[in-house]
Amino acid sequence: MKLEDIEREHKKLTKRLDKLNAKKEKVTSRVAVICESNHAHGKGCGAGFYIDELEFIQTYWYESPYGCTGGDNWLPGEGQFECPKCGHRNRFLERQDIEAMKYSFKSIVDEHKD
Ligand SMILES: [Zn+2]
Repeated sequence: MKLEDIEREHKKLTKRLDKLNAKKEKVTSRVAVICESNHAHGKGCGAGFYIDELEFIQTYWYESPYGCTGGDNWLPGEGQFECPKCGHRNRFLERQDIEAMKYSFKSIVDEHKD
């Protein structure tokens, strides 16, 4: 295969991938979540939102140093969102499917907790 053939093929595939990504975003952004009660933060108000109107909060937790070179890292923890209506903090601990869609949220913020 010649270089220009590869480049042409690459361009074609990239275009297709862009189209698919746009389609995926359209589908996943209409996913709804509900402000629910949880053990850590108490009562939710029950309001529903589409994920593209919410900010995804990516939490990080600190891993203390261990051994000679281990630890001393920030590791990604659970995803959360704050209810725009009541301010309740919701968790995606049991919702790996939602976590996988975090790029379809309005925005993503990182939150480091120690
Ligand atoms: Zn709420």
